[in-house]
Amino acid sequence: MNITTHTLIIGGGFAGATLAQELAKSNIATMLIDCKDYFEVTMATLRNIADFAKVKDTPRIRYRDFLSGEFIQGRVTELTEQTALLENGDSISFQQAVIATGSSYPSFSVAKSNQAFTLEARNQELKSASLALEKAQSVLIIGAGAVGVELAGDIAYSHPNIKVTLADSGTSVLGSYSEKTQQKASKQLQALGVNIQTNRYYQQHKDVYIDKNSGEELAVDIAYVAVGVKANSDFMKAHLNQYITDKGFIKVNDDFQVTGTKTLWAIGDVADLKDLKLAAAAIPQGKELAANLVATKQGKKTKAHKPMPEMGLIPIGQEKGVAQIPIFGTVTWKPLINFKNKDLLIGYVFKGLGIK
Ligand SMILES: Cc1cc2nc3c(=O)[nH]c(=O)nc-3n(C[C@H](O)[C@H](O)[C@H](O)COP(=O)(O)OP(=O)(O)OC[C@H]3O[C@@H](n4cnc5c(N)ncnc54)[C@H](O)[C@@H]3O)c2cc1C
Repeated sequence: MNITTHTLIIGGGFAGATLAQELAKSNIATMLIDCKDYFEVTMATLRNIADFAKVKDTPRIRYRDFLSGEFIQGRVTELTEQTALLENGDSISFQQAVIATGSSYPSFSVAKSNQAFTLEARNQELKSASLALEKAQSVLIIGAGAVGVELAGDIAYSHPNIKVTLADSGTSVLGSYSEKTQQKASKQLQALGVNIQTNRYYQQHKDVYIDKNSGEELAVDIAYVAVGVKANSDFMKAHLNQYITDKGFIKVNDDFQVTGTKTLWAIGDVADLKDLKLAAAAIPQGKELAANLVATKQGKKTKAHKPMPEMGLIPIGQEKGVAQIPIFGTVTWKPLINFKNKDLLIGYVFKGLGIK
């Protein structure tokens, strides 16, 4: 079957869903395609694993229950400048398409699922991960970036009986953050009983993890490998390979237009922008592109994108955390930490998407 549409949005994560909802406000019709039938607030998935009862199924909602435009569930497998080919053999012809296919976490797929395509399957996937954790006595988290640190804090807080080891190949936790942020995070993690190991490079050998540097062995019930984010752009390779970088990010200009094309735009994690790969960047990009597409339609000037200043807000357990924000630097202010900790921003994100 060949479907036709004017504006196709490929991917309904923070960037794509925001764009669709913003365009709807200006009465611009869109068709959004996603391989899942639900939108998920990823900020909540780690606590969903560590404390399922606290979060339950609240971070997820079916597209059909909130999206103002048209929705199709399907996977784009090939893209040209006029047509998207889907896994089921259908194709969608468009006048303009926005690629917002984000990124995946192949080594830690329960954090951002690449196998649960229905709301029911995803809810069950997280419930199972949480039940498996409840039975564990020891866990190893490999990678002490924001995701690893948050997961370690959440597990240690909710399961004080579980021995939590957080290992990183670098010299500290949160390697890309300031020294003060690293120190505050380490202190809070240690207060929760997390065993932090730096300069470790654990690899799995049958039932144990062996550190390549020291040869030390660690046997744990569960290991979470929180490293290696991958851009979701494989569908570009057949016809549009020249528009992606070596790492798979899509080359764009400062209007989000795919460099050298007339019909394609890219926003969010998949776009080769200077912004951090965060929902906090993907949401404003969706809004900015919507404003630009509306402006173009009205014959007005578009605004160039400016990268978001670097920042981070990382809960460590359910009561503490650390933030690194412009001007103020490293802070642990309760109201700011609680803003995220109280519901992991589910209410904030849903409100932005017009979900009541
Ligand atoms: C555990 C975890 C915690 C995080 N915590 C935070 C946080 O606290 N704050 C923060 O700002 N960021 C956080 N992030 C990062 C944040 O999730 C990403 O930056 C954000 O998801 C990027 O949004 P996006 O819209 O670009 O892409 P995504 O959210 O990845 O959405 C892309 C969508 O495209 C769909 N898709 C992909 N390929 C195809 C295809 N071929 N065909 C059809 N559909 C496709 C996917 O199913 C998905 O729905 C976290 C990430 C993880 C994994």
